Amino acid sequence: MSTETFEFQVEARQLLQLMIHSVYSNKDVFLRELVSNASDALDKLRLAKLRDDTLDADVSDLHIELEADREARTLTVRDNGIGMSYDEVGELIGTIANSGTAQFLKELKEAQDAAGAEGLIGQFGVGFYSGFMVADEVTLVTRKAGEKQGTRWSSRGEGTYTLERVDDAPQGTSVVLHLKPADPDNQLHDYTSVWKIKEIV
Ligand code: ADP
Repeated sequence: MSTETFEFQVEARQLLQLMIHSVYSNKDVFLRELVSNASDALDKLRLAKLRDDTLDADVSDLHIELEADREARTLTVRDNGIGMSYDEVGELIGTIANSGTAQFLKELKEAQDAAGAEGLIGQFGVGFYSGFMVADEVTLVTRKAGEKQGTRWSSRGEGTYTLERVDDAPQGTSVVLHLKPADPDNQLHDYTSVWKIKEIV
């Protein structure tokens, strides 16, 4: 299958830069954001199935899984919820549709200190991109409920992302974070540690 490369929209790039060079002390928030996206995806599938009983999707065991691999230094957040189509991944993950994000970026530039910035993150929720606070590469594999083919999205957060159609994706979405080396002095914990994950969740 062919892989296509795309550029992030300007605002998305700005937000990513902020995440990558983040000065926020509380990097743990990324997990809250990813788990909350996963939880929304389960709710959306439940609702979609209620609305359309013929939807070809399994709702018997909706759940979220967290899987850490110490050797590979990856953390995976997996849900079997609604998933995204190829076009949706490009639209939802490659751009910032949320008008609140523009306001967030503006206020962030005005916030003088890290504490102010952190408050803003909590207030606005910066979503999926917060993964780049702790990971130098993020891969997402998703398949929309009712669709046969899935999509793989991947980025190092540096201006571009790739999209590829995949045949073997399970229903829902998995986000694989390729973790940066742990750096406790900068509040970058070892997110492959079960203790740490349990503490956050
Ligand atoms: P927000 O959650 O604030 O909308 P995000 O950047 O976290 O912003 O996510 C953007 C959009 O991408 C979500 O609104 C949702 O439509 C889609 N999305 C993100 N994660 C998932 C997921 N696990 N399953 C399905 N859709 C998702």
